[in-house]
Amino acid sequence: MNHIFRLLWVYIWIQYPVFAQVDNWEQKAKVMVDNQIMVRGVQDEKVLDIMRQTPRHEFVPTEQRPFSYMDSPLPIGYDQTISQPYIVGLMTSLLELKGNEKVLEIGTGSGYQAAVLSNLCKEVFSIEILQELAVRSKATLARLGYDNIYVKWGDGYQGWPDEAPFDAVIVTAAPPKLPPKLFEQLKVGGKLVIPVGSIWQELWVITKLQGGIMDKESVIPVRFVPMVHPKKPIPE
Ligand code: SAH
Repeated sequence: MNHIFRLLWVYIWIQYPVFAQVDNWEQKAKVMVDNQIMVRGVQDEKVLDIMRQTPRHEFVPTEQRPFSYMDSPLPIGYDQTISQPYIVGLMTSLLELKGNEKVLEIGTGSGYQAAVLSNLCKEVFSIEILQELAVRSKATLARLGYDNIYVKWGDGYQGWPDEAPFDAVIVTAAPPKLPPKLFEQLKVGGKLVIPVGSIWQELWVITKLQGGIMDKESVIPVRFVPMVHPKKPIPE
């Protein structure tokens, strides 16, 4: 009996990479976009097309791959999550990108949101506070050939002053209130898409008008992981 169990384990171990494969992912991504994102009202064809062509399964841990195209956020380790596909589509479309922008993202996480942005703008600058995730997402994006995304291990509350100003800013973790430096580093006419709040969070689209005036619009209630402060200083 013991012998059979041992053989079974060896079989599972050898077959694991096969189980973890995602067959026909383009079809799954298409169904995901049509049934989860379009039906909820995201209409930007460019965003929808890019999401049909982005291999979401490449951004999640192996054991989550079978669920990568499902209608939910997924754990990516270190208590963090990759956002629900609909939220990625919605936030991306709210930025109203034309193709030539320099975009700042806060909360690189898996790198998936950055990958989606990569094909819709000129450059993506993305900051992640957890070193392990910064290293991993950088490796994933390089492996998949994304060459206009710059990932930095750092504190998103500081923004990226050396690269500012940005045409658009997207924040994928929720601060209790709007971080002033992110608004400062936004160009006039640019949009900042950000979940704000603690227990109750709302997704805001903030436009910077002439004279630094803020135009705020609340879109929907959301649930994001908190935007945290570093536990120890992060080296420059
Ligand atoms: N955009 C990501 C979603 C990541 S979840 C994706 O596509 O997968 C939010 C991420 O924000 C987490 O990885 C978390 O570590 C990070 N985060 C939280 N506070 C932060 C801060 N102050 N600066 C930068 N990143 C932060």
